[in-house]
Order: sequence, then structure tokens, then C-alpha cells
Amino acid sequence: MSWETVIGLEIHAQLSTRSKIFSGSATTYGAEPNTQASLVDLGYPGVLPVLNAEVVSMAIRFGLATDCNIAPRSVFARKNYFYPDLPKGYQISQYELPIVHGGSLDIDLPEGGRKRIGITRAHLEEDAGKSLHEDFHGMTGIDLNRAGTPLLEIVSEPDLRSPEEAVAYLRRIHQLVRWLGICDGNMQEGSFRCDANISIRPRGETRLGTRTELKNLNSFRFIDRAIRHEVERQIELVEDGGKVVQETRLYDPERDITRPMRSKEEANDYRYFPDPDLLPVLIETATIEAIRASLPELPTARRERFVREYGLSEYDAGVLTSSRELADYFEAAVEAVPGAAKLVANWTMGELTAVLKREGLDITDSRVDARALAGLVARIHDETISGKIAKEVFEAMWAGAGDADSVIEARGLKQITDTGALEAIVAEVVADHPEQAAEYRAGKHKLMGFFVGQVMKRTQGKANPGQVNGLIKAVLE
Ligand code: ADP
Ligand code: MG
Repeated sequence: MSWETVIGLEIHAQLSTRSKIFSGSATTYGAEPNTQASLVDLGYPGVLPVLNAEVVSMAIRFGLATDCNIAPRSVFARKNYFYPDLPKGYQISQYELPIVHGGSLDIDLPEGGRKRIGITRAHLEEDAGKSLHEDFHGMTGIDLNRAGTPLLEIVSEPDLRSPEEAVAYLRRIHQLVRWLGICDGNMQEGSFRCDANISIRPRGETRLGTRTELKNLNSFRFIDRAIRHEVERQIELVEDGGKVVQETRLYDPERDITRPMRSKEEANDYRYFPDPDLLPVLIETATIEAIRASLPELPTARRERFVREYGLSEYDAGVLTSSRELADYFEAAVEAVPGAAKLVANWTMGELTAVLKREGLDITDSRVDARALAGLVARIHDETISGKIAKEVFEAMWAGAGDADSVIEARGLKQITDTGALEAIVAEVVADHPEQAAEYRAGKHKLMGFFVGQVMKRTQGKANPGQVNGLIKAVLE
């Protein structure tokens, strides 16, 4: 029997507002426990939530970027359940009338090509607090700083067919929310989390199988592994004559297994009802149009333009548009050295990315800015220096030695283009290696590399390799 995997993701993106969704408390991560929870977040009786307007505009930005419908009227609902880190006894969420619904996003398939993934809905809700089980012996600590932090829950259609597709989709959403400036995407801090709903069915079957839900997966690697395991577990279970039970499971990265957490609750267990403390959210067409006009060029459009305008490969354009900051850096550099886009792309994705990674820095913290990198690329482009010397210049620039031209000048790194000087060095090298010269003349032409290497050594890499090649040929042949 051949099985098909079916996956739908629920992604929680923490919206990067300064204050909470219904109160004025700060949302800064990592503060002393319970210093950022107001009476509203604590659920005191008699206090009223007030909607933060910014979350509405952030949800609309997301909805427009994914071709969703923006509801002219959406409603906050109470989702009732008991948990120690939920002092109100209910979470304010959206249920029947979410702010955003019915859109899609294209992903790149691992085997090539694209696939459209449906987005069912995206709704606004508040986060709960945190239970700290490890810090107090035999007790649980409750930190309500996170209570009331705004979340956008993005629910996909069950359109994903493999762990690879699920990860590709998750990456696209991650890229998009950061691109739109509505979420910082920090998975370690929990600002971007995902639950995966997984089922299997015999290939060819059109009805969905019973699903399990894996909770709170917080790294791309774990998501891939957790889904893989869960699919294997379901297949084994069904092939052994068992049945998948609808339940919520937890992935344990240390033991690399999933285990049951609780049986899946049905929506009616939550007794959803419209929150009487909050008015419906009414959004006018003019507001939507104003937000649409303010949207940046989106990742896919920008990537396609990079291919068209700069002649980059799909792959390079994809890497350079992985974040808006990186794309901005690249374009700022290209503007400063027109005609050298491919070189700028290579340097941005190569040396620059490597050193940023090594030092754990973001592109916005780069010690070589776009103009400075362009200055370096310009000297490779006009053949003042070779690509190899450029690496030395780049290191020096990174270490604060000034711009490319001053480093080249100060260290005397200009390529030797004086043919007379080079001819003399070539003659010397050939005279010093009579055996190799004889072998070359006898037909062992791969010794060319040896001679070029010798000349490079004597010129400290400052000779132009192409020119050296020609001169050696002239002497030996
Ligand atoms: P709930 O609100 O109970 O979590 P939903 O019906 O809203 O359930 O679905 C949540 C997610 O589960 C969606 O992403 C949806 O695509 C996915 N999903 C629903 N049914 C299945 C299934 N049989 N197999 C895999 N994913 C599913
Ligand atoms: Mg769910």
C-alpha cells in the first residue's frame, strides 16, 4: 500500500507592536517576570480591553500580501479554557469571523517548480502567559509578561504533501512576515511558532484521514524531523491494523519521538462566544487601499525582477531576496557599481555572508556597508586587483582599515599591468625551472598552472593571471 501524507500548518506569528493587543503594557522580550502585566492582562474584574489599532493594520498587510480577503467586519470571541497561565479563564481570539481569510502563497518545490498553498484564514488573538516548571523545586512559576501579546494565527489548507513542502511553506511565511515588518521571526524567543496537523491516506483517496496535531515546533529542523516521525508512526500503526486517534502530540527533540499530550478537543469544548467587552472590528475600503499602497515590493516580485533586471540566476535571486535587508543591501551596492551585478551578488552571498555568519551579525550590522562593498567590487571589475587580492582587501576593510582604494594604495596591492615588468619575472621563473620548461615544451601543458603559480608567488598575487598566462605561453612556445 502506498500512502500519501497530508499536512496543514497553524503558524503563530507574534506581531511586533510595542504594546500588547488589549493593554498598554510593553511587549519587550526577556523582562523580569510579571513586570509587564497590567490589570487587563491579569484579568481583573471590571477592567476593559482596548484594541491596539496597529495589530489591525498588521493583519491587513499580511492579508493583502497573500491575496486574502480582508473582512469588512470581524469579531473577537472568547475561547474558554482553564489554565494557570490564563488568569481570565478565556483567551480572546477570533472564531467565526476572522479578520483575514481565503488566500494563498506559492512555494518552491524541492524537486523544482512551484505549488500554490491555500491560506484558510489568519486571525488575531492574544497570547497566554508562561508556566515555568524548571525554576522552582516542586512548584510551578507563572510569568504573565507574555499574556496579552498580540498574535496572528495563520492557518493553511491541508495542501502540503511532505515534510519538505511544510518546511518550504513555513520558510515562505517566515520570510514574508519579516519582510512586511509585522513579526521579528525569532523562533528561539517564541515569536514564530508552528503547530503541524498531520494525517495519512491511501494514495488516490480523496477524503482526509484522521489527523494528529504536533504542538509548538520551534525550529525548522525540528519541524522536519517531527513530521517525518509522526508520518512513520501513523503508517506503522495503520499497517499493523490500528487506527490513528485524533489527538495532540508533543515532539521530544532529545529522544526524537512524538508522544501524546491530550486527546484533541473539539471546537465546542471551548464554548466560543463573541466577546461582549469588544466591539466588532470595522474596516473601510479606503483603509485597505491606503495599506495596499504602502506595501513594499513583495519577495516573489523582487526576486523575479532581480532575474530580469540584473541577469541573476533564480537561485542567486532567491538567496538575495531571503530578507528585505539583504535585498536592499544588494541593490544599494549594485547602484554604486552599475554593470557588475553578478560580481556584487557573488561577494554579497560569499565573503560578506560568511563573515556575518562567523561573527553572528545581521546584514544591517555589517561593518562593510553597501557603498564600501561596491567600492571594492569596482576595483575587481576594472581589474585594478584580482579576486584573490580582493579577499585580503575585504578583510582589511572589515577590520576597519578604510575603503577599498585606500587599502589598495596603502598596501601596494595594485595589479602589475606593466608588461615589461611582468615579462622580466616570467623570464626569471622559466630560467629557474629548466626541467619543467623542457617538460612543458615536450607537451606536458598542464605545467602551465605551475608556472602561473610561481609568477603569482613572486608578485605576491599582484599579477593579472590572464596576462601571465599569455606571457608564459609566448616564452615557452
Ligand atoms: P482546529 O481549529 O481544531 O485546530 P481546523 O479544522 O481549523 O482545526 O484545522 C487546523 C489545521 O489542520 C488546518 O491547517 C488544516 O489545514 C489542518 N487539517 C485539517 N484536517 C486535516 C487532516 N485530516 N490532515 C491534515 N491536516 C488537516
Ligand atoms: Mg488547532
